[in-house]
Amino acid sequence: MKNDCIFCAIAAGEIPSEILYQDDFVFVIADIAPQASAHYLMIPKVHKADLSQFTPQEARMLGESLLRYDAFARERGLTQGYRLVVNCGEHGRQSVGHLHVHLLGGEPLNEKMC
Ligand code: AMP
Repeated sequence: MKNDCIFCAIAAGEIPSEILYQDDFVFVIADIAPQASAHYLMIPKVHKADLSQFTPQEARMLGESLLRYDAFARERGLTQGYRLVVNCGEHGRQSVGHLHVHLLGGEPLNEKMC
């Protein structure tokens, strides 16, 4: 846990937030400032700034959690698709320095850049 990290504080229960899904490695919350009618964040419980800090075993666990994130999306009715986004670093405009995977959907999204 990192002291000044908002997602670590949520993971520790110091900042209240409804946990919508969790497994051993990640938890999922709704984004506080939604950019689409459905906007969730999947956040590893351990503090990792970005993918470069993951060990191969952690990367495998993250991959398995991603499959469960897909199931979570479908259970929430996002059967017509969704978008996953990971902002990384300054150029990626990452504002919280604890890796998180945005899940956006619930409506047709704006045209994508890539
Ligand atoms: P990023 O710009 O990719 O680092 O995204 C950080 C995201 O965290 C933004 O979409 C914020 O709205 C979201 N966020 C920040 N604080 C909270 C919070 N307390 N609960 C839920 N989402 C948050």
